[in-house]
Amino acid sequence: MKNFAYVKAGSLAEAIKELSTKGARLHAGGTDLLGYARNEIVPVEKVVSISNLKTLKGISARPDGGVKIGALTPLADIAANASIAGKYAVLAQAAAAVGSPQIREQGTIGGNLCQRPRCWYFRSDVQCIKKGGTTCYGMSGENQYHAIFGGGPCFFVHPSDLAVALVALQAQVAITGPSGNKVIRIENFFVGPNKSIDKENILLPGEIVTDIRVPPVSGDVRSSYRKIRARGSWDFALTSVAAVLQLEGGVVSSARIVLGGVAPHPWRVAAAEKLLAGKKLDGAVAAAAGEAAISGATPLRDNAYKVEMVKGAVEESIAAFV
Ligand SMILES: Cc1cc2nc3c(=O)[nH]c(=O)nc-3n(C[C@H](O)[C@H](O)[C@H](O)COP(=O)(O)OP(=O)(O)OC[C@H]3O[C@@H](n4cnc5c(N)ncnc54)[C@H](O)[C@@H]3O)c2cc1C
Repeated sequence: MKNFAYVKAGSLAEAIKELSTKGARLHAGGTDLLGYARNEIVPVEKVVSISNLKTLKGISARPDGGVKIGALTPLADIAANASIAGKYAVLAQAAAAVGSPQIREQGTIGGNLCQRPRCWYFRSDVQCIKKGGTTCYGMSGENQYHAIFGGGPCFFVHPSDLAVALVALQAQVAITGPSGNKVIRIENFFVGPNKSIDKENILLPGEIVTDIRVPPVSGDVRSSYRKIRARGSWDFALTSVAAVLQLEGGVVSSARIVLGGVAPHPWRVAAAEKLLAGKKLDGAVAAAAGEAAISGATPLRDNAYKVEMVKGAVEESIAAFV
């Protein structure tokens, strides 16, 4: 592992200044950063820890009835929070589904959203397209874990469980940086490889995610996070489904269905959302939603199994609400 400078920032302003230099990387819990620094996936010249910035940690109610989650909040705290479990089951379930107890204690929500892809070509010493090369080896190589939606020119899948749940909840991301503060819809936070090949989100040098804002929910809202993985723990999603349904008088008034593990960013399936709107839930509607969810899928040589997996996972998610 190459040597790097280390700074423990005493304020947000100091962190922003230190991060504005080339090769500087933000360190929150370090569970992802230290892995890719050790393997020299991308240059790491300076590590800037924000772990002293206590104002970035914790879960609090917002005046509008929603909730604010500081970027340094550990995933374990989100999984265990009674208010989140009560109002936003999809988010509590997604946080509980991450990795292992150790990862959930040390990993933060900010780091979970900003973690780098797990594609084995990206994580190896191969000079793939994401690291300045010309080829996505996932496209024609070992691609059983790669994208079936939204791929090209690079076919990695976004590894974050919480991102999928937060897109379904229409959360917002608060960012601060050299040009000031901004709050954006989380859907606009992630960018696909067709727009940006070397990064997965819109953060500019020196910018820091400070908190996540989840809007209030009211009435009959059903939500869940369903994750399918090869092993029962310590594993990323082969496919996951975040479902958030608003019901009125037993009829779906609106639906948000978002997939994980199948695209370079959380993948909204508008066709399934449209199909569910205005319906009373039953087994046939659940099956039709599963069918709608796979429209537009373009599997690679070894990952067609994900198409069936998506269909089944969406159907099961909706059927569980009946
Ligand atoms: C064995 C293992 C299993 C895992 N399994 C899963 C899983 O099943 N599901 C899943 O979703 N994740 C999984 N992960 C990923 C894990 O959840 C993340 O590594 C963790 O959440 C990252 O948080 P962190 O605080 O440690 O981030 P760090 O490692 O400190 O940072 C990660 C990246 O995000 C950037 N970053 C961190 N915080 C901010 C911020 N506030 N603003 C801007 N940039 C920031 C860093 O610069 C770095 O590039 C797994 C990781 C491991 C090692």
